[in-house]
Amino acid sequence: MALHIPTLLVVSVFVFFLMGLLTLHAWYRETREPPLAYLGSMMLLGALGVVLVSWRDRGVDFVPIIFGNIVLLLSAAMNWTAMRTLMGRKPYLPGILAGSVVWLLLCLMPAFYDSMANRVLIYSLLAFGYGVLTTLELWRNRHSLDIAFMPALVLTVLHTIFYAVRSATDDGLPVTKALLGSGEGVPFFSFMLFESMLYVIGIAYITLAMVKERAELKLKAAAFSDPLTGIGNRRAFMQHASHLLDGCQQRAEPAALLLCDLDHFKRLNDTYGHPVGDQALIAFSEVLMKSVRKEDVFGRIGGEEFACLLCACDEQTALEIAERIRLSFARLSILEPGLLSVSIGVVTTRESGYDLSRLLSEADQALYGAKHQGRNRVQTLRSLYLGLA
Ligand code: GH3
Ligand code: MG
Ligand code: MG
Repeated sequence: MALHIPTLLVVSVFVFFLMGLLTLHAWYRETREPPLAYLGSMMLLGALGVVLVSWRDRGVDFVPIIFGNIVLLLSAAMNWTAMRTLMGRKPYLPGILAGSVVWLLLCLMPAFYDSMANRVLIYSLLAFGYGVLTTLELWRNRHSLDIAFMPALVLTVLHTIFYAVRSATDDGLPVTKALLGSGEGVPFFSFMLFESMLYVIGIAYITLAMVKERAELKLKAAAFSDPLTGIGNRRAFMQHASHLLDGCQQRAEPAALLLCDLDHFKRLNDTYGHPVGDQALIAFSEVLMKSVRKEDVFGRIGGEEFACLLCACDEQTALEIAERIRLSFARLSILEPGLLSVSIGVVTTRESGYDLSRLLSEADQALYGAKHQGRNRVQTLRSLYLGLA
């Protein structure tokens, strides 16, 4: 089937232009994420580049040959920059300009300027080079990426392979042949225009999905973390702790809950000021971080209240860990000795079962007992009952 190349050129210009505007609109309205801005510019430059390279046989051949290709190479560089910024790296201006500068310098040589085969070869190699750079950005970060990057990688690899094949096989298509719409080179040229349209649509959709996925992850992380201490908040603790508890129950392992409340915290704030109180909260969360194991869950569940769920842990071990937390906090040197202390209520699944709400409520009773008995101590519910009996 012979395709009408001028029609394809017009369609591709409109597709690139529309996709560019939509991508820039998504950038402006939604996230202001740099990758979308670079990707939008890549598409608009692509549209302009196709218009310029089509400007043949009008007596100004230097426009399509020099400027048309420079704009298209800048467009490829913007694609690379979009992926580079998506990976958190800064745009690299010498790299962005390198392709265009090489092209401009080569165009000063008549042997290059006058040979379509040479121009197609070098353009394809430069486009291939930008494709390799784009692929490398994604490949290098594949282990650390928190978003689904595989579709972008596959699409970019295919696009890059296309230019490798083009550099080895295509000798270029003179305008007269292109307008004729038949003969050697026409199917390849049509396929190239199709490929670039499909790539632009695909990469715009995939990048938008990646940017949105990352924004959602950021929002989710913010919704689950305490901004002051950086540890999990109540929501995170409840969710992770009930998950951990379910696992403990299935494996028939004991678990323990520690409920920690800093002592006389209001007085500390009133005497030394809120910022010092904040420092104490940060210091306590660091103590928690150092005192529990990787598989345990902890979080700031209220103003100066923290909870830890320790899995595969009996009462004796829980008491040792709670005591370690209490001592470590009391020994901190950020304030004079005696000013920082914490009371800790301890319950285990042995007496309270595997229901998180019940564990929390019974740990609260134990904590209340610790406060009642003078603070700065660790109290289990069991010994509280025994003590009260
Ligand atoms: P108790 O020993 O009985 O626990 O007494 P307390 O003063 O620690 O308890 P209370 O509940 O009366 O006061 C808690 C204080 O914690 C009051 C509140 O201003 C302070 N607080 C809560 N959140 C923050 C915070 O983010 N930063 C600071 N600096 N203080 C906070
Ligand atoms: Mg409290
Ligand atoms: Mg308190």
